[in-house]
This record gives sequence, C-alpha cells and structure tokens, in this order.
Amino acid sequence: MLLLNCPYCNLSCEETEFLAGGQAHIKRQSIDSSDQEFESYLFARKNPKGVHIERWQHLYGCGKWFHVARSTVTLEIFGSYSAQTLSPPKKIRANINKKLPEWHWENSK
Ligand SMILES: [Zn+2]
Repeated sequence: MLLLNCPYCNLSCEETEFLAGGQAHIKRQSIDSSDQEFESYLFARKNPKGVHIERWQHLYGCGKWFHVARSTVTLEIFGSYSAQTLSPPKKIRANINKKLPEWHWENSK
C-alpha cells in the first residue's frame, strides 16, 4: 500500500484516498502536429522500471491533482508537488539522486 502526501492538504493518506491518473508531464500537441505525434500524445506512455512521475488526484480530500515521484521497483515515494509545476522540483530530484545517482530528469514528449 502506498502512503501518499497531498501537497495541498499536506495530509499523508493511503492510496485508496486517491485516484491514479497515469504518467505526468505529458506535453500537449498543437493542432499542427502530425498524426504520429498526436497518436503518441494520446496513447504512448512510459512504463519505466525505476523512477516514475505520476499524476494523482486527492479524490476523497481536496479533489486537486498533483504529481508524485516514486520508484516502481521499491514503491518508495520521493516526493509530491503541484500539478502546475512543469518539472520535478530540485528538492525531489535531489531525493531521487540520493538513492539513484544515475537518474536524471528528462521531459516527456
Ligand atoms: Zn488534498
């Protein structure tokens, strides 16, 4: 069972309080995008063995969406932050790099 922290309420709750929303930081495509780019935007998702940045909604709390950085191997949570943030904050990146020095942030397409 995951124990997630909502960055808005600052409450730590079990994952059953939340709704998983899949991969975070997916860049929207413009109307001028090719069919292949638009198909990738709609359907292609990362499924890494390691650090994954995910969207979660505090469904039975404040209702707001936020992002969580966690390991898909150990289920360790590295931190959570506002969904309006365009990349993981430095503090969360540092938490990840303490455990996984080779990990680096790359923006999702
Ligand atoms: Zn909340």
